[in-house]
Amino acid sequence: MSVLIRSTFRSVLRCSMHPKVPRAGCQSAGSHRQFFNLFRKSNSKCEDDLFHTFSQSPFPAVRARGDAVRSHAPCPVCSSTHDHTLKEKLSLVKYECPDCGWPSHCSEEHWEVDNEHKKYCSRLRQVNEDEHDLRSGRTMREFQLPGPQAYEEAISFANWDLFWYTRGFPSMDTERSRRHASKLLTYPLTIGSVLHQNSGLTLNNQRVTLEGSRSLAALRTVLHVPPGAPDTEEAGATKPQIRIFVLGARAESSLPPHVWEQLCMLFPSCHFHIFFIGPQVSLPKPADQSVAQSSSCSPSGNTTQKPEVNWKPASEYVPNVYEPPTPKPIARLKRTRSSIQLYGVPSYTVPYSPQLTITGIRASYSEVHPQFQETFDPYTDAFFLFSPGFGFPSMTSMSELDGEPLLQIASPSEWGAVVPALLTTRCAIFVTGFSPVDVERDIRSLEVAPNVVGEFEWVITPGENAFGSEKWEVADFDPRVMVRTNWGLWAIRGKSRQIRENEQHHVF
Ligand SMILES: [Zn+2]
Ligand SMILES: [Zn+2]
Repeated sequence: MSVLIRSTFRSVLRCSMHPKVPRAGCQSAGSHRQFFNLFRKSNSKCEDDLFHTFSQSPFPAVRARGDAVRSHAPCPVCSSTHDHTLKEKLSLVKYECPDCGWPSHCSEEHWEVDNEHKKYCSRLRQVNEDEHDLRSGRTMREFQLPGPQAYEEAISFANWDLFWYTRGFPSMDTERSRRHASKLLTYPLTIGSVLHQNSGLTLNNQRVTLEGSRSLAALRTVLHVPPGAPDTEEAGATKPQIRIFVLGARAESSLPPHVWEQLCMLFPSCHFHIFFIGPQVSLPKPADQSVAQSSSCSPSGNTTQKPEVNWKPASEYVPNVYEPPTPKPIARLKRTRSSIQLYGVPSYTVPYSPQLTITGIRASYSEVHPQFQETFDPYTDAFFLFSPGFGFPSMTSMSELDGEPLLQIASPSEWGAVVPALLTTRCAIFVTGFSPVDVERDIRSLEVAPNVVGEFEWVITPGENAFGSEKWEVADFDPRVMVRTNWGLWAIRGKSRQIRENEQHHVF
């Protein structure tokens, strides 16, 4: 665990030096700045109101979160003393640090002697204030998403700032707004920024391999139009669907469809079919509870007229790191229909807009793979696995040799059969991780997984994801552990038969 903490911390330090992007060329730079200052000033009172210790928070969900931490996290000072093996000495955190508001130590005395806490304290305070800001009832301008992109205006995927600017988002005036917006958009933008021809991941910066550039070029022949042609909805009339398979989906399957629509707006001539598949996929509420939602969410492609986003944090706190539970049921839209007849497992499909269809399938991927396996095409299909936990020990499967838990990538109840099946499709498999250590743990697991090691080639080399969430997620079992959703990214695909035969040739 200490390794995880250390390197999480390294990335904390690295990311705090995030460069501000100068808005050169912005015609109204002067007035913009003036507005910016006004906004800051008028906001400063609110900023003070955002800090509460967890037990004194006005919001039940934040108080519940404090209770969760108090019942899971051991005091770091007690844990580091020699007699920590004695049960009565290992106390849980009860005392709340007055600077960050988190339950941090067993007592004021241990808080006072802990010089390490100040390394975490300001980051924890930031998370505390972010949580209160989300619930403050203010207008969340950062969740107002822009409509379709004019086709002559190029989008930059260099980083969040340039993306927001070139995509016409309301200006993100504070770091807090950027954290909120990046958390909302990290899933669709991770996909979009990798697949798009303007992607910041290239052969030149060595994030894309030669094999990878072929995979991406294949997808881009369908995602984009030939050079010079207008990339508009009309241009897509004869194009095949792009299918995005999100496996092991959890939180991403409960994002409102209009957030996923932001992916479509990066590729105006494409029709996307997004499949969320996994045992923790969020399904629509039962039909009789949905009257209120069906009228407010018209499935039109036009989002410019849309009212404010009703994206709110869950009312009760749920754990977010390592073992997140299945998200709550999602809204049932007018055209949502059950797909259980089609897939034989709990599932739904919603044709949300002319550009976007979403299917959710609550089952392990192995159960439905036979229904898809003959249909995969590297030109139109891609897999995305967000923090799959390949390198974590399985909760259910043990090795027959030594009785130790198998790694999830080799476990029959988790990814054991899935990754080899994906490799046979030759479609690109994109994977994210929530910290440098998480990425490294997953990649190391590839080298010990039967039917995976030696069977894949790199598409994208492991590294930071420019469209990860900038918001810190804090672990209840130890608030010193902080990670960020989709921090890192890499991708592989199955080796071509030709390469495999050549290798055999060398061996024999
Ligand atoms: Zn203590
Ligand atoms: Zn503190």
